[in-house]
Amino acid sequence: MKKLFKCTVCGFISEGEEAPEKCPKCNMGKEKFVELSKEDADKIYQSDRTNDIHAEIIVLADKIAKLCNEGIEIKLDPMCVAAFEKAKNEVWTIKQRSKAELAGHMNKGKW
Ligand SMILES: [Zn+2]
Repeated sequence: MKKLFKCTVCGFISEGEEAPEKCPKCNMGKEKFVELSKEDADKIYQSDRTNDIHAEIIVLADKIAKLCNEGIEIKLDPMCVAAFEKAKNEVWTIKQRSKAELAGHMNKGKW
């Protein structure tokens, strides 16, 4: 496992044998980076995939909501419109739950 370095100015996490010469996000120099402890680095590696999954769920939920809007506009019949409206509300819940989970990970340094 490579070492992780965190920019103390913007929070960017860099992976490698040493800190980058310049932060890719805020352009501050190498001296602004601190090496993360093994415990903190492990948290970041373990949550890397789950954070990606949450991000993908958020994108998919948005696509479903757009499909629901298209279905609602077509107005085939009241039952059909109700089904799209219900699905749209359900994907809102799915999306917000994943966003809340991501925010929780970030607050705990799992990023
Ligand atoms: Zn930075």
